[in-house]
Amino acid sequence: MMMYNSTRDSQVSVSAAQAIAQGISKDGGLFVPERLPELTREELQDLVGCTYVQRATAVLSKFLTDFTPEEVEECTAAAYSTQRFRSPAIAPLHKLKDGVHVLELWHGPTCAFKDMALQILPHLMRVSAGKTAGGKEIIILVATSGDTGKAALEGFKDAEHTRILVFYPEDGVSPMQKLQMVTQEGGNVAVCAIRGNFDDAQTGVKTIFTDPAIGEKLAENGMMFSSANSINWGRLVPQIVYYVSAYCDLLKAGELRMGDRMNVVVPTGNFGNILAAYYAKRMGLPVGKLICASNRNKVLTDFITTGTYDRNREFHPTSSPSMDILISSNLERLLYDLSGRDDQEIRRLMGDLIEKGVYTVSEKMQAAIQEQFAAGWCDDVQTAAAIRDTFQQDHYLCDTHTAVGVHVYKEYREKTGDTTPTVIASTANPYKFSASVLDALGGNREDWDEFAKVEGLHALTGCEIPAPLAGLKDKKVRFSQVCGREEMRNVVYGMLGIQE
Ligand SMILES: *Cc1c(COP(=O)(O)O)cnc(C)c1O
Repeated sequence: MMMYNSTRDSQVSVSAAQAIAQGISKDGGLFVPERLPELTREELQDLVGCTYVQRATAVLSKFLTDFTPEEVEECTAAAYSTQRFRSPAIAPLHKLKDGVHVLELWHGPTCAFKDMALQILPHLMRVSAGKTAGGKEIIILVATSGDTGKAALEGFKDAEHTRILVFYPEDGVSPMQKLQMVTQEGGNVAVCAIRGNFDDAQTGVKTIFTDPAIGEKLAENGMMFSSANSINWGRLVPQIVYYVSAYCDLLKAGELRMGDRMNVVVPTGNFGNILAAYYAKRMGLPVGKLICASNRNKVLTDFITTGTYDRNREFHPTSSPSMDILISSNLERLLYDLSGRDDQEIRRLMGDLIEKGVYTVSEKMQAAIQEQFAAGWCDDVQTAAAIRDTFQQDHYLCDTHTAVGVHVYKEYREKTGDTTPTVIASTANPYKFSASVLDALGGNREDWDEFAKVEGLHALTGCEIPAPLAGLKDKKVRFSQVCGREEMRNVVYGMLGIQE
């Protein structure tokens, strides 16, 4: 059976179901598989003729060995259906003129790539809880800067034995993201704004998670907390699938021959998406360079080029807000793997990060990172130029996050001359960030409201407006509660009907 260890204590060993139900290890470490299973060339070849659901079943079965084959299939089939995704391919590729392929990860219900994992996580959680939680009701608490909250709400709405509560910063999300959350349907959901920024929301949630008194109160009421953010292994493992799937589609289209390498470019924030590509490579998928693209909050570019991670810097709100992050939690999993699973070293680095906000890896580790990864960043002006150029050259509209990837890739190719076939992960539909995209194309108007902007962008480009975004206009606002950080605990109790 495949067991999972904690990045901060290799002695900790739990099953996949336990890792998913628990979310994070008690020592603060993240769960990682004890080894990476192999994906052979024969298996890869077999997947070429398969559907996305079949590809997902094959990849997930290698990791979730305490699930029965029927359980895995039930989860993948329920998640990746055309009732939930607007493309039968689930994660289709779009070829641009200069030979790069855009991997569209936003055909799910909330129009951002978070759906690729959060559509299946509730199913994985239900099976995992059935095996390990002893019938307790699962309470999902989320702090969000926008996309995760909506995708988690949509994934967990009306899931059995589960309730979900999302906190978002009152002024820290886009108008479209806010509307998506406050109109959320479902009998087991709640949404609350907090006065403060994303870090305040995140810290408040973490405090509630780790408060033993609150934990006891929940247990008395037959409940337990779990996490839906990307520290949960159940969110990471489904992301490996779409890199395998993209390779299969490129083989099928004759763009690659078996064994040819493909480079991967990922607009990066918390390092979950690009880590999944790294894991796919470690399983044997022929991936060349992993190119990490950042916005002005370029803590990862600096880390990959210098070996020093330094979060002590100014925070810049950008036009790609889902990447406005200074602490990339999933980097810990990469460091653990590249250090040869040295939990002592990880404790040292993460201790430095908490105490000083900065750490430096060994030269050996730095070399290992640079062998696998390249990195670059761009500012909002360059992001806008990438949107404009791509639209002019290819009549292809990309969102601000994807545009960061496009810019960084072009720069990488010019600098290195590396012309390996390349896949750029596209992480959101452009209509989710209509104002910035319109600005880039020179068509924005200050007097337009959010829906006028959507219509304006459509008039300018002719690109299809996704139904879930167009439909928001007629939805009723269900959640208007705002609270201070110190009141979050009462909001949680209130939602759960627990007396203090
Ligand atoms: C979450 C998100 C990202 C960053 O992904 P990570 O896995 O956190 O690196 C990039 N783009 C969009 C649109 C997102 O929602």
